[in-house]
Amino acid sequence: MEVLKNYINGSWVGSKEHGVINVVNPANQEVLAKVPYGAKTSGDAERAVAAASEALKEWRDTPVMKRVQPLYKLKQLLEENIDEIARLITLECGKSFAESKAEIQRGIENVETACATPTLMQSEFSENVATGVDEFMIRQPIGVCACISPFNFPGMIPFWFLPYAIACGNSFVLKPSEKVPLTMMKVFELIDRLDLPKGLVNLVHGGKESVDALLAHQDVKAISFVGSTPIARYIYQQGAANGKRVQAQGGAKNPVIIMPDADIEMTARIIADSVYGCAGQRCLAASNIITVADHNGAIKEALVEAAKSKTTGFGLDEGVEMGPVITPESKKRIEGLIARGVAEGANILLDGRNAEISGYEAGNFIKPTILENVALDGEVIKTEIFGPVMSLLQMDSIDQAIDFVNSNNFGNMACLFTSSGLNARTFRNRANAGNIGINIGVAAPMAQFPFSGWNDSFFGDLHGQGRHAVEFFTQTKIVIERWPKEWSRKF
Ligand code: NAD
Repeated sequence: MEVLKNYINGSWVGSKEHGVINVVNPANQEVLAKVPYGAKTSGDAERAVAAASEALKEWRDTPVMKRVQPLYKLKQLLEENIDEIARLITLECGKSFAESKAEIQRGIENVETACATPTLMQSEFSENVATGVDEFMIRQPIGVCACISPFNFPGMIPFWFLPYAIACGNSFVLKPSEKVPLTMMKVFELIDRLDLPKGLVNLVHGGKESVDALLAHQDVKAISFVGSTPIARYIYQQGAANGKRVQAQGGAKNPVIIMPDADIEMTARIIADSVYGCAGQRCLAASNIITVADHNGAIKEALVEAAKSKTTGFGLDEGVEMGPVITPESKKRIEGLIARGVAEGANILLDGRNAEISGYEAGNFIKPTILENVALDGEVIKTEIFGPVMSLLQMDSIDQAIDFVNSNNFGNMACLFTSSGLNARTFRNRANAGNIGINIGVAAPMAQFPFSGWNDSFFGDLHGQGRHAVEFFTQTKIVIERWPKEWSRKF
């Protein structure tokens, strides 16, 4: 089986690294490809940065209207190839085909938004800040930008950064997750067809060694990272210590409050989609579900029914709503956390462990699981499970529920289900999270808004997507100008 190549300086080139790991279909353990992994991938990353540094020289002065033209073509190519890319996402990542397609659609929306960079990069001008003196601001590119992406959205997350970075006049090096490199291999085949200078956009494989080489390289000026919180914290610390601009999006543990005035049917359906979509492997997956004053247990009952109705299986099969989790280790870790919850005193309302899917017996499947009355000071309530597990809690008032939400170390998302505008207003004002959903289960910001994680879910200042991305990928220069009359030639 051929080892995946890097895309450096406009060509597909073999890695100098001879070590490889398998890229595996999580539904059946079929080996899909081999990807370079080991110490020498750092040399690949350095070659990619060298190509990106060279490409930058002309690109930074290419007019922004010209820089966005290839993005219009990229949108068209992504749309034409959406089924093939989605199929690859399902094969290597596990999610259902519909989820994979929706993911690419979110990526395309970022390409569209980045086409507005000529307007988004416009700046400010003040005439006569003193007599005869004008002051203005220019946004200039920052240089070579690197992106390190996680396994769970291989077709979307690089687009939170890539189109904005190049539209702003930078060059780019992407290091996709070693677990799911095939999706971006396909996307880069499309990028190869664009009219872009060689070396402007590069792709290198590998794990920690490639990342560390990017973090250490003096020509890399900005790092965009998405992944787990411990690695996000490490990237932020290392990047900052090396003088780079860093945006590092981390993990999550998302709480959802259900008020007794919420519509039971709709709420249960939306929350089940949030908890179990992508098998819970979403940084915006609902995890801790707090029912307020559900005295007759009607909401609990509706949630159990909605969870039971989910069809688990191989994502390319008709009717499948939930695929496997990414690796056997991940399955073991999630099942271990379910057991831990039970040991901590939780009652298991729905047990998805030991799931068997006919024809896919080797797959990493866990079916929808619900734990009730999880210990508030236990491990399960605080840990990002990243699997199809709902922890159900009961509280007496919205104040108690909001205090619980705000005790969370993470801050990626918090949601409220209610028919009261006052409850909604109180919640959005007080909840300690960067993305808020009111009667929404997955509060994923559209491309024109920043993906606004807080606390341990984000390290940095400017988030991915939209105007924040344009600010991240440009540096401001202030010019103060005077043209004295006595120095001017008279005509
Ligand atoms: P991960 O942190 O294991 O890996 C992310 C990237 O970091 C990969 O490219 C990997 O190769 C690299 N990496 C791993 N270990 C490293 C190390 N020691 N040093 C340097 N680089 C290293 O994350 P994952 O398992 O791929 O993704 C799941 C995590 O990502 C979850 O925690 C999820 O919540 C989070 N996530 C967050 C967001 C967000 O917007 N906040 C979005 C998607 C996923």
